[in-house]
Amino acid sequence: MNGAPPRYREVVLASGNPGKLLEIRAILGDLPVSLRSASAFPELELPEEGDDYEANAVAKARAAARDSGRPALADDSGLEVDALEGRPGPRSARYGGESLDDAGRVKALLAELAGVPASARGARFVCVAAFATPEGEVCTARGVCAGRILAQPRGRGGFGYDPIFAPDEDARGRSMAELPPATKNRISHRGRAFGALAPLLAERLAPPA
Ligand code: IMP
Repeated sequence: MNGAPPRYREVVLASGNPGKLLEIRAILGDLPVSLRSASAFPELELPEEGDDYEANAVAKARAAARDSGRPALADDSGLEVDALEGRPGPRSARYGGESLDDAGRVKALLAELAGVPASARGARFVCVAAFATPEGEVCTARGVCAGRILAQPRGRGGFGYDPIFAPDEDARGRSMAELPPATKNRISHRGRAFGALAPLLAERLAPPA
């Protein structure tokens, strides 16, 4: 190896969602960052979530930075369905009630969209990524991925609503859950939001020249 090795720094991801952690690790794969799951920090108390992606993401990142004493990243995301006037949106994780799992939420959404024709099934995934430091710096970036809700779940990859969401950018009409992970990360709301934060992270976390 030429020169000094990079000075890796730990960054806490303010989320217990393993699907998000995997994706964000891959999206930020080129940065000298060791991304730790919130579950490794029992002292973390993440705030209750409201109806605003940006406020939620900032609150989670700030709380994780404060409680862990390390820089923190957070993601707040959701699925906005045109036929439901943008629902479930920031409430996507809680859609249908706290007792449902991912498969239950997919089923509930398909039931609510029963009878809605393909031409009216437009939707988008939205993600706001936030970075916060223990010193109080905060910045955010937003990413959007447009697509449509399928009639039936397809594919086994990803998480959440991926099996019923077909992104417009995939010419083959595959669901998010049918795409290779690298393809999802290239076009997804999360890939775009964290991709936009990456230059700032590189500046903050890279070793001094
Ligand atoms: P939160 O950001 O933790 O409030 O949860 C966002 C919720 O939106 C997730 O639990 C999923 O239900 C949904 N969601 C967000 N991003 C994705 C994605 O990339 N694929 C599928 N579902 C997602």
